[in-house]
Amino acid sequence: MSTSRFDNLPDAQGFFGRFGGQYIPPELKQVMDEIHAAYEEIRVRDDFQQELAELFADYVGRPSPIFHARRLSEKLGGAQIHLKREDLNHTGAHKINHCLGEALLAKFMGKTKVIAETGAGQHGVALATACALVGIPCEIHMGQVDIEKEHPNVTKMKILGCKLVAVTRGTATLKDAVDSAFEEYLKDPQNYIYAIGSVVGPHPFPKMVRDFQSIIGREAREQFQARHGRLPDHVTACVGGGSNAIGMFTAFLDDESVHLVGVEPAGEGLETQRHSATLTLGKPGEIHGMACYVLEDEQGNPMPVHSIASGLDYPGVGPQHSYLKELGRVDYECATDAECLDAFLTLSRVEGIIPALESAHAVAWAMRVAPTLPKDQHILINLSGRGDKDADYVAEKLGL
Ligand SMILES: *Cc1c(COP(=O)(O)O)cnc(C)c1O
Repeated sequence: MSTSRFDNLPDAQGFFGRFGGQYIPPELKQVMDEIHAAYEEIRVRDDFQQELAELFADYVGRPSPIFHARRLSEKLGGAQIHLKREDLNHTGAHKINHCLGEALLAKFMGKTKVIAETGAGQHGVALATACALVGIPCEIHMGQVDIEKEHPNVTKMKILGCKLVAVTRGTATLKDAVDSAFEEYLKDPQNYIYAIGSVVGPHPFPKMVRDFQSIIGREAREQFQARHGRLPDHVTACVGGGSNAIGMFTAFLDDESVHLVGVEPAGEGLETQRHSATLTLGKPGEIHGMACYVLEDEQGNPMPVHSIASGLDYPGVGPQHSYLKELGRVDYECATDAECLDAFLTLSRVEGIIPALESAHAVAWAMRVAPTLPKDQHILINLSGRGDKDADYVAEKLGL
């Protein structure tokens, strides 16, 4: 067996180095430990793994293909660009991978309600979908600002039969939705389960969500190897909470030749207060039950954050990313709203693929560096989702 230095993370207390853990009241710690025990139990069971594998294949449509973006590569005149097509998954993004896992776990534990927050609405739709499939009531909390911006996803959640709670406090975006959903969860944590939408929150969520998402990198590594007889030189993904990125990176952590790059939203610029570049400009702290990099104001409160991509505007970030940054195994770079819009339109017009604004951040980084690299180098981008949800917003913004 491999003796990777990444194999045993997190430790038994849920720590990745000094990040992660459970910064929660004792009552909740007990509930989280129960969830962890249930997860450890089903994780190694053949029937669970088989059910999940069947759903990945027949329901999600896995494996998602890797597409060689030849026209984009030619246009940029440097490295070859490849896209891992998570946008082709049922519901249009990577989130369905962990939502199915969480819904099956909820069913196994006999929970009566699944609660969650959503930013772009992708987690909400994916979770409402998984809960419909598994047959569990589902309640989604969403910021009013995001509700207005992400109308198609809001409609889908209603159709899928979940209860939608509009959150108007604070900046009425993702962080406030998290707070609101958490309050509802605290009313009965024995019978409810909080299905966290990324690799964040208290242990065991950063670990479980990573495990469910790691199918992305396992597939991608094998597909790329089979097609090209080698591994990619650079692998990149956008980072909000960090689930699609860690899902992609996990299989490559031991491949020292592979340069891993997470791309954070620089919003209107790192010099403004209007960004969400947590790993780039934040510092170690605590938020939502975990230790991780955090963007804070002078008083130590979470900063109001901004990104053109609703799914990326979060003032914390996954503890494993915080750890990988300090270890130097993954580089974290940024792309602005403007670069993201440019990448969105370019990928649409050169390859006929409309990416999610979130995913467009990773495309933007690749577009920036590809021209500086030789033609025989390969960049693999995790295209985390499709841009249908963003089409009207972008068209209006660009006056199309
Ligand atoms: C939610 C979302 C993200 C951001 O979440 P991570 O946990 O950082 O992956 C990225 N891309 C898409 C398409 C999303 O819906």
